[in-house]
Amino acid sequence: MTATSSVPVELDASRGESWLHGSPVLMLSRAEMARLQGAVAGGPGEAAWQAAARQAAREWCREEARATGADGVTVLTRYLDSLAHRGWGRFELLYCRPEDCGAGVRVYNSPFAAIPGARPPACRTFLAWLEGAMGWACPDPDYAPVAEERCCAAGGAEACEFVIRPSVASDDD
Ligand SMILES: [Zn+2]
Repeated sequence: MTATSSVPVELDASRGESWLHGSPVLMLSRAEMARLQGAVAGGPGEAAWQAAARQAAREWCREEARATGADGVTVLTRYLDSLAHRGWGRFELLYCRPEDCGAGVRVYNSPFAAIPGARPPACRTFLAWLEGAMGWACPDPDYAPVAEERCCAAGGAEACEFVIRPSVASDDD
């Protein structure tokens, strides 16, 4: 069963910019994005990649909360919806307890797991996004969220499954 809907992407040809939901966006194939992630995975650039992804998630949530006044769980739900609307897969929030810095997330059709040769756990960028979003939502500054991909579709699972838990904040990161 498929459900498709049309979302207007506006093209400003004079500037060479595409716009979606009021923001300028780049369109690239899921496979290309997965290859970009693969190019930094395990190398010296990965920490910076992950840090930038955490920051992007945190800023998205902060901006959403500022604009709408929504609570943490609602903002996290909207963040996952926003990822889905941008083509990153279908997200399911299994549980979410910001006060405990904990959540469970399932992702169907991850682009990182879908490319040929992907090995589990393949979805490293999602770890950083989930950590960034929970880092924004968790009110306890002593908690640093750590995400783990418990199972990955690249290994044959029906969906990728992530658990976010707190670790006590340190200066390592
Ligand atoms: Zn995965």
